Amino acid sequence: MTTEGVHEVLIIGSGPAGLTAAIYSARANLNPLVIEGETIGTDQPGGQLMLTTEVENFPGFIDGVMGPELMANMRAQASRFGAEFLTRRVSRVDLESNPKRVWVDDTEYLASAVIISTGAQALMLGLESEQRLLGYGVSTCATCDGFFFRGKPIVVIGGGDSALEEATFLTKFGESVTVVHRRKELRASKIMQDRAFANPKIGFVFDSIVRDIVGDGKVEGVALKNTVTGEETTIATSAVFVAIGHRPTTDLFAGQLSLDENGYLLTHDGTRTNIPGVFGCGDVVDHTYRQAITAAGMGCMAAIDAERWLESIGEQVGDTPTNW
Ligand code: NAP
Repeated sequence: MTTEGVHEVLIIGSGPAGLTAAIYSARANLNPLVIEGETIGTDQPGGQLMLTTEVENFPGFIDGVMGPELMANMRAQASRFGAEFLTRRVSRVDLESNPKRVWVDDTEYLASAVIISTGAQALMLGLESEQRLLGYGVSTCATCDGFFFRGKPIVVIGGGDSALEEATFLTKFGESVTVVHRRKELRASKIMQDRAFANPKIGFVFDSIVRDIVGDGKVEGVALKNTVTGEETTIATSAVFVAIGHRPTTDLFAGQLSLDENGYLLTHDGTRTNIPGVFGCGDVVDHTYRQAITAAGMGCMAAIDAERWLESIGEQVGDTPTNW
């Protein structure tokens, strides 16, 4: 067992929230250590934008930017101001102790303040074609990608509020939107159902599972199987939006941090969690907006909250006045 020295700020997770927190806390001389996750397994260092192609709605990029490039730039920007990175996975935490303790296998890292930005994973169908075509017609974010499918047929998979919300939003762009659900009854709330049923651009295919997403280089169709009749059909489409739910990455914190009924981290007064000195930002907290820009904004808030908290407990913070 080895123990590192005490960092002022330790950040767990490296999507837009974690990296923005790293930029701000590094510029405030808080010597942040970012434990960014591993490149193998279920972690996704850089977050969900590493799985996207073009990002057209992040302010500042007139012609858009590729998701991985945007994240590489944020990481390099944080490094430039002295943020340290560890490409490993956190194995356990003790956030009540002072300093707070974070382990990566047998190595213990100590920090006065911890910022949690572990994100959420969009649940996927688990098809090989889905992974292959992610960013090439397969998407998990209508707000991000709907614009690319103007005048095209669009398919949405799922029967919950997310699926119907995405479907309704996508009617602004698509020539038609077909919701494919694995049962006959929708899980979505009555109001969302009423809104979707009343929309002439939305059609439904019930009792159907996705066998495959068809296309070579880009989505061309979706192969379905009716679970009642066994009939197999293929719908022509340019886009498949998978909207079957998200899972926040909070298993590590269960029993220490307050979570809501769906496992999202609960925060109050900005980004504060139930444990003083522990802050939460990005999709691990936010199940409403889920945008790179909102996550980045929350990362900024968490860094400022952490810096003010460190000052309030009398930590010597940085060596320059805070001007962010
Ligand atoms: P959800 O309520 O868990 O619904 C997931 C849907 O995906 C269900 O219809 C489920 O089918 C289907 N599904 C799950 N796994 C599947 C698979 N492997 N293959 C095919 N279909 C699959 O998730 P959500 O819609 O993301 O909503 C999450 C929470 O956020 C809910 O509490 C929801 O009310 C809330 N929310 C609210 C709003 C709003 O009010 N504006 C908007 C979005 C989300 P089954 O029904 O058969 O299980």
